[in-house]
Amino acid sequence: MQDIKEAEVGKNISLFEQISKFGHEQLVFCHDEATGLKALIGIHNTVLGPALGGTRMWNYATEEEAIVDVLRLSRGMTFKNAITGLNIGGGKAVIIGDPSKIKSEALLRRFGKFVESLNGKYVTAEDVSMNERDMQYIAMETQYVTGLPPSMGGLGDPSPVTAYGTYMGIKGCAKSVYGSDSLEGKKIAVQGAGSVGTYLIEYLVKENATVYVSDISEERVHNAVKNFNAIAVGMNEIYDLDVDVYAPCALGATLNDDTIPRLKCNIVAGAANNQLKHELNHGKMLVEKGITYAPDFLINAGGVINVYMEFIGMTDAEMPYRQAEKIYDTCQDILKKSEAEGITTQEAAMKLALQRIENIGKVKLPF
Ligand code: NAD
Repeated sequence: MQDIKEAEVGKNISLFEQISKFGHEQLVFCHDEATGLKALIGIHNTVLGPALGGTRMWNYATEEEAIVDVLRLSRGMTFKNAITGLNIGGGKAVIIGDPSKIKSEALLRRFGKFVESLNGKYVTAEDVSMNERDMQYIAMETQYVTGLPPSMGGLGDPSPVTAYGTYMGIKGCAKSVYGSDSLEGKKIAVQGAGSVGTYLIEYLVKENATVYVSDISEERVHNAVKNFNAIAVGMNEIYDLDVDVYAPCALGATLNDDTIPRLKCNIVAGAANNQLKHELNHGKMLVEKGITYAPDFLINAGGVINVYMEFIGMTDAEMPYRQAEKIYDTCQDILKKSEAEGITTQEAAMKLALQRIENIGKVKLPF
């Protein structure tokens, strides 16, 4: 297992060097001509248990972009699952292509066969552009799938629990920064009104926060304005808003050299995975600007809590919410640890996760 250092990505390094720098156990290439399936499964670390993480379908500009994404996402799952106290390792899959053009029952079932061929080392679930229906197709070919609809004995779409955990994380940060966790009257910019973003907006407006929203999809912005009185802002404008909280709930790497200097918020806390383009450098840039950052893999863990509970056979749909509530406290613990040790919140959270993997790895040694 890697120590805390930047997982490097470079054009001039070989694939094996990249895998080694990210600390992966395995990267699986899946291809099927008949269905048009091109997928990658990243198995980062299985010390705590089978690698669990969702499948993302995305129209990547290049194959290299997809490889980097699956490596970054699956590594993030290792930290997320470890810090959340779950007995599972980190993995993730990406399917390359435009969902509106390539998604089909046959393609998803072919992907399910690849998942099955790994004999439980990787367990899949929903991620961006994937839903319960897609999981049903995958489940026709593999038992190693979770995030199934209640009609199939599952706990359903994890997005509402992810949003709840993120909401708890925002409140935990607010308590540390403002001395109160009330979000009444706070100005919060939500980037991405997708599955998670929309549920999050609902929690925020219920507490009388003023919500600003941006999305590529005009329809989703329109719905957030219509249903929750959110204020629509431009895709680029969102970084310049004078707000209390910026909540990235779209894709990753939105905290980078271009955007951080523009931010005027006190807190960055949102559901998107891999928000920091470079996890150490950009974490430090936020500290220098006096912005409190809630590590993404910590506060967006509600979804994996939901799918994990389903995977181990729990049927009480309220349990994941109770578990996700703890994100409030963990968030505060991480902010304190970061301050006490003079490290970024990202580093503090990674340290805690690595410590657990190391400790439990020892417990698992045979007598
Ligand atoms: P989604 O596909 O339903 O929503 C994402 C939304 O972001 C879409 O509406 C999309 O149009 C929008 N978007 C993309 N790029 C954008 C940009 N540059 N500016 C504004 N909007 C943009 O996905 P989701 O399930 O809501 O997930 C959102 C994020 O949360 C992802 O990063 C995902 O990996 C992460 N996440 C999701 C879950 C879950 O339970 N769904 C769990 C953990 C983490």
